[in-house]
Amino acid sequence: MSISDAGRLRIRPFDLKDVRLHDERILQEIAVNRRHLMALDPDRLLHTFRVTAGIASSAAALGGWEAPDNELRGHFTGHYLSACALLAAQTGDPAARERGTVLVAGLAQCQAALGSGYLSAFPEELFDRLRAGKPAWAPFYTLHKIMAGLLDSYTLSGNTQALEVLNGLAKWTERWVQPLGEEHMARVLEREYGGMNELLYNLAALSNEKRWLELAQRFDRQRIYEPLSAGRDELKGLHVNTTLPQIIGAARGYELTGERRLREAAEYFWHTVTERRTYCTGGSSNGESWNTAPNELAKELSGYTQECCVTYNLQKLTRQVFCWTADPRAADYYERAYYNGILGVQHPSDGDKLYYVPLQSGYWKLFGTPLADFWCCTGSMAESFAKLGDSIYFRDARDLYVNLFVASEVSWREKNLRLIQETHFPAADTSRLTIRVRRPTQMALRIRVPYWTENGSAALNGKHLEGFAAPGSYFVLEREWHDGDRVDVTLPMRLHVATMPDDPTLQAVMYGPLVLAGKLGTNGLTPATLRAPPTPPRQVPEYTAEPVSAPDIVAPSADVASWLQPAGRSLEFRTTGQAADITFVPLNRIYDERYAVYWKVRRATHAGAPPL
Ligand SMILES: [Zn+2]
Repeated sequence: MSISDAGRLRIRPFDLKDVRLHDERILQEIAVNRRHLMALDPDRLLHTFRVTAGIASSAAALGGWEAPDNELRGHFTGHYLSACALLAAQTGDPAARERGTVLVAGLAQCQAALGSGYLSAFPEELFDRLRAGKPAWAPFYTLHKIMAGLLDSYTLSGNTQALEVLNGLAKWTERWVQPLGEEHMARVLEREYGGMNELLYNLAALSNEKRWLELAQRFDRQRIYEPLSAGRDELKGLHVNTTLPQIIGAARGYELTGERRLREAAEYFWHTVTERRTYCTGGSSNGESWNTAPNELAKELSGYTQECCVTYNLQKLTRQVFCWTADPRAADYYERAYYNGILGVQHPSDGDKLYYVPLQSGYWKLFGTPLADFWCCTGSMAESFAKLGDSIYFRDARDLYVNLFVASEVSWREKNLRLIQETHFPAADTSRLTIRVRRPTQMALRIRVPYWTENGSAALNGKHLEGFAAPGSYFVLEREWHDGDRVDVTLPMRLHVATMPDDPTLQAVMYGPLVLAGKLGTNGLTPATLRAPPTPPRQVPEYTAEPVSAPDIVAPSADVASWLQPAGRSLEFRTTGQAADITFVPLNRIYDERYAVYWKVRRATHAGAPPL
């Protein structure tokens, strides 16, 4: 019997190599990330691995969480491998692929020198401590990043040496885990371990070896799954980014084994988190945890909200849920996270990434100091900005789904079909989809109609189509497609508010899928306070200046248009009738200045005005 997800996945995303991006902003983001990655010296990325393996290295050590005394060291090199492989697949860039090859060869040399299959930038002693219940930061978390980087190097770049190194590490892991009884292993799993289960499930599917499936199951954290599969949200108090990869692992476990309980846990988790524990941005977590009951977020605004790794992992889980369900809510969520949680967290000048997206008014985006941060999020965001073409398009056995409106094209090789999407979204609300086929092809084109649009419409070859779909569903165009057929979709965007579930006077403004942020100036901000100081072991970035308070908004009516109007420039808005008017722009365009996303909105008090 083969280990396969074939029976469970009715929809699949297109491979990155089949999607080419044309959007100017997105291409710019990819280029900035690429420069950031390529500027890193492979010898420095390998330095602590070599030291651990007893191989001479004269390279300068990296700083931050990659420093030689940091127990997470080596994690970024794992992310780096993934990012190179993703970038090579997304853009066809031979230099990114070559960089991956160099690093894999360096890691293989370290593994060979160690001789046991083990490979890490820290000695095995950390795993001894983990086994003994003594302090050690998160050894399996780090190992997972390295193993995932190796797996991506193999699956996306065809690097067979990476697969050999990965197999050696998997065998070492098997030997480490096997002697542990259930209770002992459950204690080990209390320490953050990344997505070890997901990784091993993926290796099982790739190799069709049952031993990896069994090893993956040892990393399934039943204590977390049980309440979720019973439909109970007991997430309060949990560390968000420890939990999320474990759920992604459960989701992958379902896909390979068909175990319904795992799917139920993952699906319930997805709903409760994306519907009741996320901000308008799609982000979740405050101080890295869920500190409250569901739908209690008004007091959860700080400078440390929305860890970027959380958005990364929520997108991954959302992609899985979409592949099971084709649920337009999953596609809506993915877009929300794409525009407000991913875009905007990379500094355009040097590609440095954010750790948190602060949502307390008056803060600013606190980027790191290059070479002195290497936070978890530096790694996950290096990957996100290398795969911005992911989840734009999906397919099932016969139909094509257009989920995101990003100028791009997709090739469906088996059908000899190409779809070209021309759009200036989100600056414009139209998108032209042109089909290129060798011969007439029967297929349904499923075009997402987002929740945020009103009065959408479509035309086929210039002719208006009746029966456009409602917001929050798909417009399905089933026909025989001829070469050059074109569909013009119009999805009007409007201003609307996103209110805090537990405080309706606390409101954010959105335009289409974009969260708008009010610009609060740069008072008290200097080049030094805009960047986090170098990050010592186990520390997170800290602000070195105070936030300012944002003024309340006085609203003549419940309609946001009564106090916010287009300001002339694309996607720019300006308040009206306030003591001091404020300019609003998409959150993903704000850098190096203070801003506010959530506002206290008071209804103007005049005779006859109803209370809010
Ligand atoms: Zn992180």
